[in-house]
Amino acid sequence: MMGTLISLSLFEKNDIVVNSIYKYLAISEKLFSANRNDSEISKINQQAGKHPVQVNSNVFQLIKKALIFSKLYPESFNIAVGPLVKLWQIGFSGQHLPNDDEIKKCLCLVDTTGIELDDVKDEVFLKYPGMELDLGAIAKGYFADQIHLILKKYSINNAIIDLGGNVLTLGSNQITMDHKWQIGIQDPRSKRGNILGSVACRACSAVTSGVSERYFIKKGHLYHHIINPKTGYPLENNVSQVTIFSSSSLEGEVISTVAFFAGVVNGIRLINKMKNVEAIYVTRTGQIVTTAGLRFRNFQTR
Ligand code: AMP
Ligand code: MG
Repeated sequence: MMGTLISLSLFEKNDIVVNSIYKYLAISEKLFSANRNDSEISKINQQAGKHPVQVNSNVFQLIKKALIFSKLYPESFNIAVGPLVKLWQIGFSGQHLPNDDEIKKCLCLVDTTGIELDDVKDEVFLKYPGMELDLGAIAKGYFADQIHLILKKYSINNAIIDLGGNVLTLGSNQITMDHKWQIGIQDPRSKRGNILGSVACRACSAVTSGVSERYFIKKGHLYHHIINPKTGYPLENNVSQVTIFSSSSLEGEVISTVAFFAGVVNGIRLINKMKNVEAIYVTRTGQIVTTAGLRFRNFQTR
């Protein structure tokens, strides 16, 4: 689902819970996807410059949160980035290098001041034709947090939720002596499953943003899927990937994007100041840099 492999690990078989989460994800995909014409997000996008669209209240609330973060981090995280994501199509069959004019046209549509929200009616209006919302950088984190709440309702306290590498561990690991979870960090220069180290942690979210999952190479240059909303091109810096450990997965998603843009030095400085948030950067040359608290928590490289 959602263009990736999703898994839920429980310590006891429980079909009712698994089915209910499966259903939740199927409904959510229909509501939130920017890649399905019938989703609520697509309806908002299709009505850009025309009409406000009334949406499901969960959709409204996520857009509202994402807009707050977009205004807080205008240099990096931007949910109005849709026209650029659609233009580049990175990770999809139509991925290509657009020309400067096409990029310039899209850039003026990446404008969060053109997003109007009506709290009373749960309506979203994109003021300018061609504007598009894209929740790709935040939706999986939101779903992971929601699945956590569903599991709590069923009194399931220990589990692993894995939405294509967005991992949320709950409670404690019932099959290890120290009851900690071991979260492996993918080596971005190696094939899937080859990790460069692991982090032992209690219940936490681990979310990664990086260049090595969705990209293409043209004339020796790598174009990846995280777009700089100020230039219209994939962000150019020396970060290959950054993994954020936090308690909320939604928060981890936003911080991973922000940290990716900040780069290693500023990103580490920024996250060292955040409470209960840690990071592991891997640079394009393979250097590993972690926040101070994470060294403390025993990050082990292989
Ligand atoms: P993530 O994998 O969580 O880092 O999110 C990457 C996805 O977020 C991309 O595939 C796009 O759908 C979307 N996206 C790309 N650039 C940005 C950006 N600057 N701000 C917010 N979302 C973005
Ligand atoms: Mg993200």
